[in-house]
Amino acid sequence: MKKITIAIDGFSSTGKSTLAKQLANHLGYIYVDTGAMYRAVAFFAMQNGYISASFFDKETLINSLPFIRLEFKFNPDLGFGEMYLNDTNVETQIRTIEVSNFVSKVAEISEVRSKLVEQQKQMGENKGIVMDGRDIGTVVFPDAELKIFMTASATTRAERRFAELKQKGDNVTYEEVLKNVEERDYIDTHREDSPLVMAEDAIEIDNSHLTREEQFEVVLSLVSEITKTN
Ligand code: C5P
Repeated sequence: MKKITIAIDGFSSTGKSTLAKQLANHLGYIYVDTGAMYRAVAFFAMQNGYISASFFDKETLINSLPFIRLEFKFNPDLGFGEMYLNDTNVETQIRTIEVSNFVSKVAEISEVRSKLVEQQKQMGENKGIVMDGRDIGTVVFPDAELKIFMTASATTRAERRFAELKQKGDNVTYEEVLKNVEERDYIDTHREDSPLVMAEDAIEIDNSHLTREEQFEVVLSLVSEITKTN
């Protein structure tokens, strides 16, 4: 069957990666979590003391970009690629609330975006890819055969993210998570370079009241329609 490109965009914690992983596993496609790449750059900035609650040395981070190497290495036990920053697995470190609090400020920087977007475009050269993020259908793959835009209310999303973080043993409050979700939505939709907007030809899915399975079935039938007619 002909391979296509699937772009999944949307607000924070709408379950984009869950859907993307389900689709990739089912279709035998590559899955790329672009948020992990921005998170790894934010983690690098934190590790090197370029960013803190009161300080952000953007210039030094921009000058350090040639020394940041990002790679996904497939973990067969997990069924997806884990994020490696300069040969170190940072999959756990990049999912903390601290990284979530800085990542959108790092993702606003055009130099960061162009480096990551270039790498993302290369990963999708041969199609057969499901990529999730904020600008996949608008900037990375404007010609993707299927574009999904996912939404859900901020409270639904914060509840989901809070449960996830708690399960991992992260010591956060629901209020902290809700604040983070709302702040990231604001920065992501208002930044100058590649703001989060729904592509004109994207299909919007509000999954506030859909189960994972229901959502998966909806999108899978869209994939079948496209691959049938292509
Ligand atoms: O998807 P995730 O929530 O892990 O993304 C973390 C952050 O990375 C987003 O809030 C956004 O600021 C940034 N991001 C982006 N463009 C993408 C993917 C993520 O700006 N394609």
